[in-house]
Amino acid sequence: MHRQPRVDLHCHSRASDGDLTPAAVVERAAGRGVDVLALTDHDTVAGVAEAAAAAAGHAVTLIPGAELSLAHREATLHVLALGVDPNAPGLARLLEQLQDARRLRARHMAERLERLRLAGAWERLQALAGDAVPTRVHVADLLVEADYSRDRRRAFRDYLRPGRPAYAEAPWSSLEDGIAAVRAAGGVAVLAHPGVYGLSARALGRVVDAFAAAGGEALEVVTGPRRDPITARAASHARRRGLLGSAGSDFHRPLERGPELGALAALPPDIPPVWERWLAAG
Ligand code: MN
Ligand code: MN
Ligand code: MN
Repeated sequence: MHRQPRVDLHCHSRASDGDLTPAAVVERAAGRGVDVLALTDHDTVAGVAEAAAAAAGHAVTLIPGAELSLAHREATLHVLALGVDPNAPGLARLLEQLQDARRLRARHMAERLERLRLAGAWERLQALAGDAVPTRVHVADLLVEADYSRDRRRAFRDYLRPGRPAYAEAPWSSLEDGIAAVRAAGGVAVLAHPGVYGLSARALGRVVDAFAAAGGEALEVVTGPRRDPITARAASHARRRGLLGSAGSDFHRPLERGPELGALAALPPDIPPVWERWLAAG
């Protein structure tokens, strides 16, 4: 018997809204015994080269990835692009569109903050985001810094959710276009964190159907150290549609209580793991 590989196929670096550099994410993962790691920054592969270089110095297989924000009906879905060629032209075009959508939204959020009398919001937001395009997390940090909110959670609740005063829509690309670009780049599309969309069981079933019909191949069945009702629900959707299973922590930063690299429950044994193709190839 081979030892089960320790995988984590969903995490973020400073290339989007994480705190650590891509190299530091890889080092932390290696230190925690992760064998297979996918870096999946929001709508960018900008951190992948640095992460791959760092992985070469550790016993870590680095899967190039990104977390795409895609529109489907009224919802924004997060789809992980795993194992993509980061230089594929179709993917690069899609990522450019998504980054443009993100920039536009960040501008609109900054305008709203200015209207809420938070002066210099756009400049401050860019400073907080560094080289990355500002995300809602950066806006939340700005709200905390300016004493509008006590912490990130309250900033999201009071300002950044749909209907709240600093919220702005982003014109994301469609689910179909996103998945097509992932496949054309040689990658696998994984529907991320099925539990966070606030969908009823039936609505989630319909989303999974649309995702599979568009060429999506896997569901992120395991998202944390424990199996929970969402794990069970996602697993049953994976079985029903014959989809593969994935596992990812959605790590953004070291926290005392919070998602941690590689801290993941096992995939239900009857669900084929999406990562097997990269282990077989290795
Ligand atoms: Mn994030
Ligand atoms: Mn997400
Ligand atoms: Mn994520």
